[in-house]
Amino acid sequence: MKYCIIGGDARIREVARLLEADGDAVCAIGHGDALPRAENAQDADIVLLGLPTSRDHKTIYAPFGDETISYDTLLGLLNRKARVFCGMPDAALAARFRTAGILFTDYFEREELAVLNAIPTAEGALALAMEKLPIAMHHANCLVLGFGRIGKYLAHILKGMGAHVTVSARRASDMTWIEAYGYHATDTKNAKEVADKADVIFNTIPSLVIDAAFLDRVRPSVPIIDLASMPGGVDTAYAEKSGKTVLSAQSLPGKVAPKTAGEAIFRTIKNILQEDFHESTPCAQKRRE
Ligand code: NAP
Repeated sequence: MKYCIIGGDARIREVARLLEADGDAVCAIGHGDALPRAENAQDADIVLLGLPTSRDHKTIYAPFGDETISYDTLLGLLNRKARVFCGMPDAALAARFRTAGILFTDYFEREELAVLNAIPTAEGALALAMEKLPIAMHHANCLVLGFGRIGKYLAHILKGMGAHVTVSARRASDMTWIEAYGYHATDTKNAKEVADKADVIFNTIPSLVIDAAFLDRVRPSVPIIDLASMPGGVDTAYAEKSGKTVLSAQSLPGKVAPKTAGEAIFRTIKNILQEDFHESTPCAQKRRE
């Protein structure tokens, strides 16, 4: 397969390395001389854009490039038959692809990528906690809000280090699993009641759960590590006013483990292509008839 990479950061460079190692041909726009340069993507089978695809909703995210690639420029570079893989394209770009009849897939929507990203996110959060805490994680009281992908993996590694782990959830089934794994369970809406015991608090819930009443129960020196996507889960104005220690930790996979994060994108794209291939076989077509 011939890939043309347009923009993207260190994670996409790792994808390029793995594609080449897998026998694929790779050229790139927006990577200087670090990858074989392309003038356009006309002869590419697959076009790969970064994560996120854009940061300003106008141009392609290409931090290593010297050129600005507007959405118009991008559309002009593409061969209409190419398959485009992009991470979190905004509505405007998605609409442009649809109008131009370009087949695109948002690889960030795939569950395996979310799970693979949860691992470096949890590790990055743990590193932050260790940097901020004056005590060892062993026997530290850790409160994890949310028992989704990140919450599950974070609780697992914290317990592995000998921490006392309390995890919050809102579903009875999750509360039962939390207990089954040997953590203390608390209903998210009651989590503030255990906040005063915590040496560190990790939030993974993308909703305002650490409100003023919660913050009033937290000791000022206790790091509150907010992992949820912006605007996060903390009343930051009240936290600042009341002198609490809030650390907003965004985009950790790309920051703490770009190679691992790149490998996760590579695996995800290969999975999608393999599924497409199986779906297009005569057997699969017959099954659908
Ligand atoms: P997830 O698997 O969807 O887990 C989210 C958890 O929050 C679940 O336990 C969910 O409960 C709970 N939750 C959601 N809305 C809630 C509400 N209104 N009240 C109470 N509980 C609620 O998500 P994830 O993959 O773990 O990611 C968590 C957050 O981190 C997301 O915002 C994600 O975008 C972000 N993220 C951050 C980084 C980083 O570097 N900081 C990296 C990747 C992802 P239910 O299961 O009951 O819905």
